[in-house]
Amino acid sequence: MGKLKGQTAIVTGASRGIGKAIAVMFASEGANVVVTARTEYAIDDLAGRIVQSGGSALAVTADLSIDSDLQRIADETLANYGRIDILVNNAGIIHPRINLVDFDFELWRNVVAVNLEAVALLTALCLPSMMQRNYGKVINISSIGGRKGSKGRSAYRATKAALINLTESVAAETKPYGIDVNCICPGGVDTEGYREAFRMRGKIDDPSLMAPEEIAKLAVYLASDDSSSVTGAAIDAFGGSNPLFA
Ligand code: NAP
Repeated sequence: MGKLKGQTAIVTGASRGIGKAIAVMFASEGANVVVTARTEYAIDDLAGRIVQSGGSALAVTADLSIDSDLQRIADETLANYGRIDILVNNAGIIHPRINLVDFDFELWRNVVAVNLEAVALLTALCLPSMMQRNYGKVINISSIGGRKGSKGRSAYRATKAALINLTESVAAETKPYGIDVNCICPGGVDTEGYREAFRMRGKIDDPSLMAPEEIAKLAVYLASDDSSSVTGAAIDAFGGSNPLFA
C-alpha cells in the first residue's frame, strides 16, 4: 500500500468503468486523485467516497471534446494540489459496429476528438508541471483494437492505433525530463461502455471479459516508481480476449 503516496493524479473518464477502477485504486495507494468526466453526479459521488475513506479527491466536470474544458482540468488540478505527477488518459468513446460507408461523420470526428486529440492536448497541458520537477508518468489507455483493424470499428481502432504511436513520440520527447509515457492495450473488459456498444450483458454473456480492476492494477504499476525502466511501451493486457486462446 502507499505506492503513490502524496502524488497527484488526473484520471479522465472516471465516472465509470476502467477509469473509475483506476481512480479508486490510485486513491487507495495514497494518491490525490482528480476525477473527471461529463457526468457530474457520478464523479462527485466518487470523489466524496474517496474522501470519506480517508483519501483526497477533486471532481472536475469536463467534456474532453472542448479545448477550454481540458485547460480547466489542468488549471483546477494545479490550483488545488500545486502539481501534476500522473496523467491517465483513459476516457474514450466505444462506438458500436458501423461500417465506414454507413458512418455518421459527426460521430467519427467526435471519436477522433475524444480518443485522440484530447489525449494529445491534455498531455501537452500537463507536461510543463511534470517537466518543472523532472518527474512524471503518463498512461494512455489504448486497446487490443489498436493492434489491428476490424469490421465496423474504423474510427475506434484508428484512434487506438494512433495512441500507441503518440505514446512513443511523447516518451522520446520527455525522457530527458524524467517522464515516462506508456500505454495499456486492454482486451475485453466488462464495463458499461462495452455492454452498451456491443448490446450484451457483460460477463454473463462472455465470461472471458476482464474486470476493470485487472487493468487498474497495471495502471498502478505504470504510475509508480516500480516502472522506472519502462517508457514508450504499449503493454498488451488482453486477458481472455488473447488471440493465443482462439
Ligand atoms: P466506458 O464505460 O464507456 O467509460 C468511458 C468513460 O469516458 C466514461 O467515464 C465517460 O464519462 C468518459 N467520456 C466519454 N466521452 C467523454 C467526453 N466527451 N468527455 C469526457 N469524458 C468522456 O468505457 P470503458 O470500457 O471503461 O473504457 C475506458 C477506456 O478503456 C476507453 O478509452 C476504452 O476505449 C478503453 N478500452 C476499453 C475496453 C473494454 O473492453 N471495456 C477494451 C480496451 C480499451 P461521461 O460519459 O460521464 O463523460
